Amino acid sequence: MLIKSNPDEIQAYLVDASNFKGTCEKVFFPENELDVISILKDANDKNFNVTVSGNGTGLTGARVPTDGVVISIDKLNKILELNIDEKYIVIEPGVLLSFLNDEVKKVNLLYPPDPTEQNCYVGATIATNASGAKTFKYGPTRSYVLELDVILPNGEKVELKRGDFIAEENLLIIKTTENDVIEILLPDYKMPATKNASGYFIHNNMDAIDLFIGSEGTLGIITKAKLKLLDAPFNTLSCVVFFNSEKDGLYFISEGRKKSNSPDNPLSARALEFFDKNALEFLRDDFSEINGNFECAVWFEQEINADIEDELTELWFNQIEECNGDTDNIWVALQETDKARIKEFRHAISYKVNEYISRNNFRKLGTDVAVPDSDFNDFYFYCQSLVKSSGIDSVCYGHFGNSHIHLNMLPKNEEEFLIGKNLYKSICEKAVELNGTVSAEHGIGKIKLDYLKLMYGDDGINKMKSIKKILDPNFILGRGTMFIAD
Ligand SMILES: Cc1cc2nc3c(=O)[nH]c(=O)nc-3n(C[C@H](O)[C@H](O)[C@H](O)COP(=O)(O)OP(=O)(O)OC[C@H]3O[C@@H](n4cnc5c(N)ncnc54)[C@H](O)[C@@H]3O)c2cc1C
Repeated sequence: MLIKSNPDEIQAYLVDASNFKGTCEKVFFPENELDVISILKDANDKNFNVTVSGNGTGLTGARVPTDGVVISIDKLNKILELNIDEKYIVIEPGVLLSFLNDEVKKVNLLYPPDPTEQNCYVGATIATNASGAKTFKYGPTRSYVLELDVILPNGEKVELKRGDFIAEENLLIIKTTENDVIEILLPDYKMPATKNASGYFIHNNMDAIDLFIGSEGTLGIITKAKLKLLDAPFNTLSCVVFFNSEKDGLYFISEGRKKSNSPDNPLSARALEFFDKNALEFLRDDFSEINGNFECAVWFEQEINADIEDELTELWFNQIEECNGDTDNIWVALQETDKARIKEFRHAISYKVNEYISRNNFRKLGTDVAVPDSDFNDFYFYCQSLVKSSGIDSVCYGHFGNSHIHLNMLPKNEEEFLIGKNLYKSICEKAVELNGTVSAEHGIGKIKLDYLKLMYGDDGINKMKSIKKILDPNFILGRGTMFIAD
């Protein structure tokens, strides 16, 4: 197994896309499950810390080590099986999401979880319960994970198949492949009903597999996953609509959400996303077709499975008119090249913001909050007015169909960064007050520990630690992620 310790060679593993930076002694590159087991057994015996690294596109510092060693997943990158008839795929965790999507598309199937960043490892998307635009219709990664092989911090293996280890009330019993029995008394903290990627997933009568999904590399290392696939749609309609007022844009979102959630309504968006005026301005260098007069835009996508393109387009057009969208400026795409251009537009905003942040060498100050739909519009205006009154530049966009906002502050100096940090905290406090979440998709990592505490309090955090202690008594894995070990 390759092991690197030359500082120049391991530099790339000491940071992620949040620009959080760390340090470690060496990086291991396991080539199979046995390599992973042997490193973890050694670490557990000798008590040194291990951080699992995916492809480093995380936005929370979760894969960044603070000491000890890193296990890179780079070489565990094979697709093991693609079953077209039964619609599933079995992979090693280091398969790139973009590669998985390409392979699945070739056989006319669809893997719905689609974080904007596709240059990430599928194992890591499971570890973060990643979401994307299609989560509006299809839910997060969790909904597509059928089976996981996980190596626990002591080197033992668990094979988790949905349905095999179900908690009885609050008692979850898991058996390792060596027949050791692990008993976990599930705590009683309450998770928000919104889209959520904050803290360990807990539910009475839950499936053990769900505890590991979204555990951010702190409870075990995923070495294999079986994932559910769907039939690819016949076609999709993709549109960007521009509005002269934010209220109209938000009204379009809430009507789109309501109608899409109603099974009898033919309007059924699979993505429903928003861009504020600053976001449009930020994109205008690359997309000169954006008219600078508009206050906001909404991108939506709907799958089309029959020959009803004209009918559907007309229904959406009526909806746009009803919400005062500018009907002379709609970008409509039914062909692949046009759809790709719209996708580029959606993706460019996230990349440009991250580029700006690393160019200025600040840590990311981008919210990942979600609140219940009923409070969403007021919450949006609260966040915007807070940031605008501070004078700090910002761009706001996000998965508004899921009532989920990425409001990114763009500080120009240290003073603005510190002010921005306080605003960020106020936004998280407000989201929690409304029974929402501080992180709907990126996770907590090492930079949002205080905000996780806002959600669950010391009591809730201690309950998460008690789960961690059962599975990782020496706290060797993913140390510093989600909470600080006592
Ligand atoms: C421009 C941009 C846009 C983004 N858009 C989205 C988005 O729309 N939705 C979204 O959800 N995220 C988004 N992200 C965040 C990021 O892409 C996801 O969090 C992704 O899941 C991280 O994958 P990675 O391979 O880069 O993992 P890393 O950042 O390397 O690691 C992430 C976490 O996974 C753990 N991990 C990795 N492999 C394993 C394993 N085999 N077993 C156990 N734990 C493991 C790590 O320890 C760490 O905790 C975006 C990021 C960028 C830069």
